[in-house]
Amino acid sequence: MQSTINHYPTKKKSLLAQEILAKLIAFPVLGGQSNDSIADWIENYLTEYDIPFHNVYNAERTKRCIHCRIGPAVDNGVVLSGHTDVVPVEGQDWQTDPFKMVEKAGKLYGRGTCDMKGFIACCLACLPEMMAADLKKPIYFAFSYDEEIGCWSGHALAKSIMDTYEETPRFAIIGEPSEMEVITGQKGMGTLEVVLASRGAHSSKIYTEASTIYEAAKLVNWLENKMEELILNGEKDTRFTPPHSTLHVGKFHGGIAHNIVADKCTIVWDLRTLPKDNAIAIMGEFKDYCAERVAIMRKKVPEFNITSKEWFPFVVPLDTPDDAPVVKFVQQLTDSTIINAVSYASEAGQFAAEGFEAVICGPGSIEQAHRANEFIEMEQLEKGVLFVQKLITKLS
Ligand SMILES: [Zn+2]
Repeated sequence: MQSTINHYPTKKKSLLAQEILAKLIAFPVLGGQSNDSIADWIENYLTEYDIPFHNVYNAERTKRCIHCRIGPAVDNGVVLSGHTDVVPVEGQDWQTDPFKMVEKAGKLYGRGTCDMKGFIACCLACLPEMMAADLKKPIYFAFSYDEEIGCWSGHALAKSIMDTYEETPRFAIIGEPSEMEVITGQKGMGTLEVVLASRGAHSSKIYTEASTIYEAAKLVNWLENKMEELILNGEKDTRFTPPHSTLHVGKFHGGIAHNIVADKCTIVWDLRTLPKDNAIAIMGEFKDYCAERVAIMRKKVPEFNITSKEWFPFVVPLDTPDDAPVVKFVQQLTDSTIINAVSYASEAGQFAAEGFEAVICGPGSIEQAHRANEFIEMEQLEKGVLFVQKLITKLS
């Protein structure tokens, strides 16, 4: 089988990956939008190679995940996963059209080149080679939507792979940009929108009224104090920067004039937890404090209320032990022994929650993600291709 694999030099293969990447970049699918266009293209590509695929749709059937198996229906296969959506470019200072891939001095520019269509391109470019190889264990592709707005589909995708196939895959590699180093830990993430409602009044009446701005400020204080408490007495995990859970208020909006008691105020905050901390409990404590404030303020103003809404289901953290078999397995494909943890959210924790041994490992650097003039180095793309080629050899 080795001879078949040798017919596909990495250099040539990474040119194909570049061609595919250029196609994928041209689909400006942002998180939250329908991904029909890019999903159609990927499905056509799979169909050209007679690979049957499965979809996981959102409720309105405007977006879909794609997954498929290449190779035999036997246990212990490997899932390669990536998201098809990207973050917006609005207000960013781009030197080139973000949705047209441009090559310059060894770098490929375009929104999604590194986060994370580059990895998807590596997978697709190696498909012919996977089919020609005599795989003893299967490789699965798993492509999601709406990752960038809160990992909306990762959990359903991971579950569908476990449910659809008779055999049970074992490892999941989430190809987020990590410069091909293995990442075993990821913080959990939740976002809460909190709306405070009261009644408007003349500002001179403040003593007998309930200002939603004063009350929102108390909630913000509570959040900052809670983080201080976690820093002092909470769990520590030095794999992460910072090594504690964080609570952050990113939006505070309320009031219309200096002389009107604000009847509405909204805050949006996010929580990023260490695997060892209990996010649900922290959110519960916050909601208890809100209920306390409502009970106090209603004595003055019966209309006073605080409601909280999670923007998306809590994104579970990733906590794969450094000595897990998947770590050694992936390290052998990357020739790197470095193990890292990250503070951003990804779908890796969701795959782990569904029973996969999961790690993050993909081409490109997170430093270039979400920025203007996002790029992937051609060398990184080539490393991504080599990684998939080594996987094919290892499973053959
Ligand atoms: Zn990403």
